[in-house]
Amino acid sequence: MDTLLKTHNKLEFLHPLHGFANKVSASGSFGSKSVHIKLGKSVCVNSSSSTLLELVPETKKENLEFELPMYDPSMGLVVDLAVVGGGPAGLAVAQQVSEAGLSVCSIDPSPKLIWPNNYGVWVDEFEAMDLLDCLDTTWSGAMVFIDEKTTKDLDRPYGRVNRKQLKSKMMQKCISNGVKFHQAKVVKVIHEESKSLLICNDGVTIQAAVVLDATGFSRCLVQYDKPYNPGYQVAYGILAEVEEHPFDVNKMVFMDWRDSHLNNNKELKERNSKIPTFLYAMPFSSKRIFLEETSLVARPGVPMDDIKERMVTRLSHLGIKVKSIEEDEHCVIPMGGPLPVLPQRVVGIGGTAGMVHPSTGYMVARTLAAAPIVANAIVQYLGSDRSLLGSELSSEVWKDLWPIERRRQREFFCFGMDILLKLDLQATRRFFNAFFDLEPRYWHGFLSSRLFLPDLILFGLSLFAHADNTSRIEIMAKGTVPLVKMINNLVQNKE
Ligand SMILES: Cc1cc2nc3c(=O)[nH]c(=O)nc-3n(C[C@H](O)[C@H](O)[C@H](O)COP(=O)(O)OP(=O)(O)OC[C@H]3O[C@@H](n4cnc5c(N)ncnc54)[C@H](O)[C@@H]3O)c2cc1C
Repeated sequence: MDTLLKTHNKLEFLHPLHGFANKVSASGSFGSKSVHIKLGKSVCVNSSSSTLLELVPETKKENLEFELPMYDPSMGLVVDLAVVGGGPAGLAVAQQVSEAGLSVCSIDPSPKLIWPNNYGVWVDEFEAMDLLDCLDTTWSGAMVFIDEKTTKDLDRPYGRVNRKQLKSKMMQKCISNGVKFHQAKVVKVIHEESKSLLICNDGVTIQAAVVLDATGFSRCLVQYDKPYNPGYQVAYGILAEVEEHPFDVNKMVFMDWRDSHLNNNKELKERNSKIPTFLYAMPFSSKRIFLEETSLVARPGVPMDDIKERMVTRLSHLGIKVKSIEEDEHCVIPMGGPLPVLPQRVVGIGGTAGMVHPSTGYMVARTLAAAPIVANAIVQYLGSDRSLLGSELSSEVWKDLWPIERRRQREFFCFGMDILLKLDLQATRRFFNAFFDLEPRYWHGFLSSRLFLPDLILFGLSLFAHADNTSRIEIMAKGTVPLVKMINNLVQNKE
């Protein structure tokens, strides 16, 4: 989030939004945790929200207790792979390429820092990667509250990632495979024919045969040649100790679209009915819960103050009294938008490489599953015979990361996002009412990026068949332009 807000994304995001300009706080007011408190006291948030936000602790940055083998710049070695960024995407590839015996340097300004984001995944996604030991809590299913009367009881286990365990596991493997670490930010890359030079902000230059950009949404090195116009998922979450909450501790709350908490606030209710937000909640016990008010996708993104105000009103209506806050999370995820230039000399993975699901904002499971594909391609072409180098090698890696089926799948997901961007609260409810009535293989496959084009078309038809008449008219009216755009892009997308 910090990183994101330091990039150009900030400029787009902080403009007055949706005609609520007077509600938007001064620029940068949610860029870092130390400023959250200020936000809580600002005039933009009502008094009860300022009381809640005063409970937000000062940022505590927890580091892993590892002795890291550091990269020695004085040796002037050319490593096989330099991985820029030590998030889940970068470490997963570093671990797997080093396992094959190649030399790897991982560069990150805070290599030991436990990742700050609270990641949720479907349990089957982690089970498929043998990562169940990296979930700290699982729920047997998930609830969706469509409105006051309609709920969906989803029979699909959900889990919270134990980010300390996942990072420790990856770091341990990296260390035992001989990965070297460098604590710095990369500021520039210079390419030569068979190697690249990474210039870091501490003056050190690291030479590598292949450079992997895994810097998340800061998109440090990977280049884009089309206007960057993503939608934004914006959410504010707290991990809190509460007096009580109304949720079943065996089910996580995937989406709560109810809006009766806004009945006494006409202005907020109107705002929410135009651009709705929902509650996402992970109840760990009857007294400990993660609560996150979320705007699924909007362009431009919903202001964080607005999200906080809605959350405070909702919690008060649900009778949730927060006693203390362990941590909070400001979430801004760019969704959709163009893919990076394909291929290009720097290889990418994760947020920087367009891998966020454009209709949901999820990415961790998909990226961890894609890491072996990137790693295998690098190992294959950089292996013993050094069959390919420079741009030729990168080109093959990009092909494996974004084959035509995946690009077509992403086009379809972007089409989904384009429709979601146009739906108000009532239409969103109708959409999810039909979506979660689909056969599980369809909605599971859609959310977990497992459906490819022929099945996605069946998914679309099935969704249409399940929708009520109002929804069908809506989908046709609001979906025609995005559909034409998608077909156009699909036609242009060649092998
Ligand atoms: C608050 C939040 C919650 C999310 N929750 C979920 C979720 O529940 N489920 C899900 O599937 N997805 C979730 N996502 C989306 C996505 O999965 C995450 O953003 C994920 O962390 C992206 O992983 P990454 O490795 O690509 O990038 P990041 O995790 O962002 O890691 C990038 C790393 O690169 C480093 N870096 C940046 N610039 C440089 C530089 N110039 N030089 C060197 N290093 C650099 C950063 O310090 C960081 O360590 C969430 C995103 C956010 C922001």
